[in-house]
Amino acid sequence: TQTIGATLAATAAKYPDSDALIDAAVDRTWTYAEFRRDVVALAAGLLRHGVAPGDRVGLWAPNRFEWVLTQFAAAEIGAILVVINPSYRRHELAYALKQSGTSLVLAAERFRDSEYAQMLDDVRDQTPDLREVVLFESATFTQMLEAPSDEEMAQVAEIAAGLRADDPINIQYTSGTTGSPKGVTLTHLNIGNNGYLVGALLEYTEADRICLPVPFYHCFGMVMGNLAAIAFGSAMVIPGPAFDPKTALAAVEKYRCTSLYGVPTMFIAELALLDSGAGSEASGPSAHGETFDLSSLRTGIMAGSPCPEQVMRRVIGEMNMSQVSICYGMTETSPVSTQTRMDDDLDLRVATVGRVGPHLEIKIADPITGETLPRGETGEFRTRGYSVMKGYWNDPEKTADALDADGWMATGDLAVMGDDGYVRITGRIKDMVIRGGENIYPREIEEFLYTHPDIVDAQVIGVPDEKYGEELMAWIRVREGAQPMTAETIREFAAGNISRHKIPRYVHVVDEFPMTVTGKVRKVEMRERSIEFLG
Ligand code: ATP
Ligand code: MG
Repeated sequence: TQTIGATLAATAAKYPDSDALIDAAVDRTWTYAEFRRDVVALAAGLLRHGVAPGDRVGLWAPNRFEWVLTQFAAAEIGAILVVINPSYRRHELAYALKQSGTSLVLAAERFRDSEYAQMLDDVRDQTPDLREVVLFESATFTQMLEAPSDEEMAQVAEIAAGLRADDPINIQYTSGTTGSPKGVTLTHLNIGNNGYLVGALLEYTEADRICLPVPFYHCFGMVMGNLAAIAFGSAMVIPGPAFDPKTALAAVEKYRCTSLYGVPTMFIAELALLDSGAGSEASGPSAHGETFDLSSLRTGIMAGSPCPEQVMRRVIGEMNMSQVSICYGMTETSPVSTQTRMDDDLDLRVATVGRVGPHLEIKIADPITGETLPRGETGEFRTRGYSVMKGYWNDPEKTADALDADGWMATGDLAVMGDDGYVRITGRIKDMVIRGGENIYPREIEEFLYTHPDIVDAQVIGVPDEKYGEELMAWIRVREGAQPMTAETIREFAAGNISRHKIPRYVHVVDEFPMTVTGKVRKVEMRERSIEFLG
């Protein structure tokens, strides 16, 4: 129940010489003493540029060290950090800046085909509150990192001392997986506690190094990664600006990381890379394969979207991550609500999202009446406690839809709780398919399809159908060199193993799925495209 600035100050005092931050792209390391020094300098820099507590400060860049410095500098002086998705383009950017009333933006000049500086220029006439843009590559930013005067240091300290843990510190626009993004408003208490509890779960110490290929602008990176690290003196390792399986595993090897985070698709890509390596060893050293020394790993987190059991088992067995945990949650809940623990039974650790996290309440409710359902029945996952957001920024209506008068957050996710308290997420209410009056959860069919040896990844959606209302369609990615796969092949494979009405009528083989930057499959887009080509 302290501010994020206070947590960082305490950790820097306790472990000044431990590594805090490593950016592989520039091969630079900060100890906690150095990291806090730069954070305080940047906080003073923000004050010099007219930022006051409660002001909205935008941050728009891929993962790089400046991102992390800015995160903690804003927190230090109680500015509300508006974290902006690196894949945004003008329309979404203008919406986020305007909706949040952002007055200053720190940004990378560009990354790949994203011209951030140019786009920020282009939206200026739509963002009346925006006073200034500071690019990381500019002399201005370098000056903001220069040592502050004693007077400025005192000013930062005075502001920091006056902050309260339930002040808002962050606005995060949701992934937009199911619709237009909402500005989730979170406090020090929300995310600071959540980060602390994630770190406690994984038993982080100052000896841990966490490899973070997950985007920082999302809770997974900035809370479960950065805030967990600073609570325990662990190191945040940035393998590169954006996810790449080779870069991630190379960073684990080079910096002897003990923990690795990812959404399921990231782990799938890493396992595929390791597969190609194992293949090459067998066929002689001349082949193209990659091998990595993963012996330093012990733990990590898979989260963000449904975690296929097969993938979990392989991560434990083949990536040396015997203590890996699955976490479930959403931006609105800071994010973690449930998690698997290292001492859980293996079958539960790979097939459920675990039990309720410390200091939280959860229930499975009837989505319409809100009544708590008996164990074993499918309903909406709801949660209450310290982790629940303050609300959606400037949007009391949407806030009231999501949060009831007693403080319960409706997640929009379908789940079942067993007698043992372990929770299974069965899908999103919006993804549920109703075929001939029968509720079908795509997740269950996806899990089944994963058991096919040639299927690397599978996503199931409902498409409109005259006779049944909706029909099932599977989009699949198949292993290289596999036999061609059609609806017929799948039908034969599924016959006798799953109910007839759950066998996908259509099968569509793809090289990749439409994705959000957070690595979630955009089922909305899959549906639109499917309707087009079924057309
Ligand atoms: P939007 O709300 O804008 O549509 P989003 O819900 O994808 O986007 P996030 O807050 O990033 O935005 O994601 C939270 C959602 O991710 C959860 O509601 C849930 O559907 C899914 N999710 C997260 N972790 C897991 C998990 N371990 N297993 C299954 N689903 C998960
Ligand atoms: Mg959501």
